[in-house]
Amino acid sequence: MQVLKFGGTSVANAENIQKVSAIVQQAIKKDNAVVVVSAFGGITDLLLQSGEQASHMDESYKEKLRIIEQRHLDAVKALLPVVQQSSVLSWVKRSCNEIEDICNGIFLLGELSARTKDRIVSYGELMSSQIISAYMNSAGVTNTWKDARELIVTDSNYGNAAVDFIATNKKINQYFSGNNNSLFIVPGFVASDGNGTTTTLGRGGSDYTGAILAAGIYAEVLEIWTDVSGMMTADPRLVSNVRQIPHISYQEAMELSHFGAKVIYPPTIQPVMSKKIPVWIKNTFAPGDYGTKIESDAKENGTIIRGISSINKIVLLSLEGSGMVGIPGFSKRLFEALANEKINVIIITQSSSEHSICVGIEDSASNKAKEVVDKAFAYEIETGRVDPLIIEKNLAIVALVGDHMKNHTGVSGKMFGSLGRNGVNIRAIAQGSSERNISAVIASDDVKKAINVLHEEFFETTYKQINLFIAGVGNVGSRLLAQLDKQKEYLQQHLRLQVRVIGMANSRKMSFNDDGIDLKNWKQSLENGEPMNLQRFIEIIHSKNLRNSVFTDVTANNTLAECYDQLLQKAISVVACNKVACSSSYDYYKKLKDLSREYNAPFLFETNVGAGLPVIGTLNDLLRSGDKVNRIEAVLSGTLNFVFNNYNGGKSFAEVVKQAQDEGYTEPDPRLDLGGTDVMRKIMILARESGEHLEMDQIENRSFMPASCMEGEVADFYKEMAKHEDHFKKIYNEAAQANMKLKFVAKYENGKASVGLQHIDSKNDLYHLYGKDNVVLFYTDRYKEQPLVVKGAGAGAEVTASGVFADIVRTASV
Ligand code: ADP
Ligand code: ASP
Ligand code: MG
Repeated sequence: MQVLKFGGTSVANAENIQKVSAIVQQAIKKDNAVVVVSAFGGITDLLLQSGEQASHMDESYKEKLRIIEQRHLDAVKALLPVVQQSSVLSWVKRSCNEIEDICNGIFLLGELSARTKDRIVSYGELMSSQIISAYMNSAGVTNTWKDARELIVTDSNYGNAAVDFIATNKKINQYFSGNNNSLFIVPGFVASDGNGTTTTLGRGGSDYTGAILAAGIYAEVLEIWTDVSGMMTADPRLVSNVRQIPHISYQEAMELSHFGAKVIYPPTIQPVMSKKIPVWIKNTFAPGDYGTKIESDAKENGTIIRGISSINKIVLLSLEGSGMVGIPGFSKRLFEALANEKINVIIITQSSSEHSICVGIEDSASNKAKEVVDKAFAYEIETGRVDPLIIEKNLAIVALVGDHMKNHTGVSGKMFGSLGRNGVNIRAIAQGSSERNISAVIASDDVKKAINVLHEEFFETTYKQINLFIAGVGNVGSRLLAQLDKQKEYLQQHLRLQVRVIGMANSRKMSFNDDGIDLKNWKQSLENGEPMNLQRFIEIIHSKNLRNSVFTDVTANNTLAECYDQLLQKAISVVACNKVACSSSYDYYKKLKDLSREYNAPFLFETNVGAGLPVIGTLNDLLRSGDKVNRIEAVLSGTLNFVFNNYNGGKSFAEVVKQAQDEGYTEPDPRLDLGGTDVMRKIMILARESGEHLEMDQIENRSFMPASCMEGEVADFYKEMAKHEDHFKKIYNEAAQANMKLKFVAKYENGKASVGLQHIDSKNDLYHLYGKDNVVLFYTDRYKEQPLVVKGAGAGAEVTASGVFADIVRTASV
């Protein structure tokens, strides 16, 4: 014998029921079968809602009942030949009238007992199984309908009744041994108590019906036919890249389902496991797919963990108090109080200090739990030995499951490390001594992110997803977007990274797309976006709560730079080409560095110095490997270099500066370059990265710009410079006559930093710099006489964008 169970979606309508029939016909060619069916998809919910509404004196239950009736009548009409319809139609109508009578009674009394609820809800399975049985008979697939209430005996715990296996197995045996039919059709979910009153086996209980029957008749196999091709490594509604699990042990399947994998109802495993009956999970809509085999010794899948699951709507109860330490019996009393109220404990943790016990339960039971536990400990609470029960709401449990976690070090490290890096706070942890399950209690809002992070960490060899939010889509930003688009394939193939731009903003607009903004059409999506509001932009980043979130600032904006702390403390990485944050007060710079460390969220700003050149990275590597920086000498302004390389008294100084601005080398306000501020910022950042506590006003700036040029607006700036052409010519001529070049040099030595224009002779390392080049000379303990030199193009949108890009990719390797 074999048992096949078909779930709600598999029998949702006539078309699906035809698929079920085809599968059953194939199956009975091999062996006799018992087919267990659920209610038509959605009907159980509708029935329950009807009862609830009636009990609240809400007449809309009548509309619900009409829908329920219509769906069943439609199915009959679509499935059966007209001549055979009438008896089934009248049976359906009669059943629906009964439901309505019950609901009318509930409506009048304003009262709905658990017993009546079971009565109402049982019609879902009773009607679906009758219709399917009649249809198959009419299609020549001869079968016998058997009421599960005559086979399965339970206690009277309505809604979630416990099976009396001795009585049940006896009835099953009696019935099936006397019947040699090839096919039986049985309603799932329903049973009856000792008095013959209808009970149900808990939501999702048709799976359990299948298992009870399979165990009772010692079936060869139990097949659970549903709408997915087997158990997946995580809930496919939460994770898009789930993998199918071909083989899994009973224990693993039990743990996964217990911790939320809805594909199989948790009690299902127990009866079949004890008889070693294999369970297959198969897809009604893709019967050829392999599915999942649940068995005793499941083959390894090549991964340490088998799957990840989660349960939402958990509350954590904490019983705390110094009076508990070392005194036996507290936990017994706690659990007894909960058990007496039939409150199911899902997770338990106790710190070894014994100062507190924490248990996780379903949130629907939280008020009751508080009442009974406080009552049980009333004396201790009154005498101050324990505190009143503390309840924390809006929590969830995520669990990693796998037989092979046993004795395998590093799994929990990896689990908590990856959650921590993504700002998921862990409220409680439990690991069963079987080491088959590690569970963590986290905030409900973090579940989707946590499951995705863990899935990526343990299963996705294909790629890791970076979720990017970009502020600024000007010169650098737009090139960054073009580079991201161009490199998409490369990143995926070679670095296994998928970078998605989830949000972008300029000073006017902001736009978001959880599937990633189309980088070929980003201008359009930005235009269609909402008005930019920085606080809102940040709130949205927080509320999306996506894993591997990276905020990228490609502006030169002060207000944006002031927000990095809000991001880092939510474990969101920050990549900035904006120099404002690192060159503002030392305290803020330090705060950001500390937050980055504390929340394990990279804060990267390589492009603050030398655009795409590896300056800060090189400096960090030197320091990390134990070297000490004694002196830095550098030409750090691409703009000034461009200007002095191109200015020879021919074209006016103002014109050359304008050219530099037009070619995209300058800051949006070019006075920051010309007046030396930009270089001061850069040398200060290098000094700070070398460990120096330095502020802007401590840096000496020997500016060559006439003071009048630095006042007023940018347009005035060009006019003023034109007026001072002689001044600039003089500076140039003095250098040219001495056969020297002009370089705006930044220095840092012995805790002091300075910037200023210098004459440089041809023997100097700083002499041979072309175009917009930058050069940095690091003199360290290891590079004493000959400095370590980093040199190359140090300005320009393209190279800056590529530096930002590299930082974004770097965040992923942390
Ligand atoms: P049925 O009505 O056939 O009993 P259910 O809706 O009860 O089906 O269970 C199947 C659903 O379980 C799938 O559609 C899927 O969304 C969900 N599910 C949750 N976790 C998992 C998992 N780990 N593997 C497969 N499906 C899962
Ligand atoms: N129809 C019931 C429910 O929706 C039982 C089941 O489908 O397994 O919970
Ligand atoms: Mg189910």
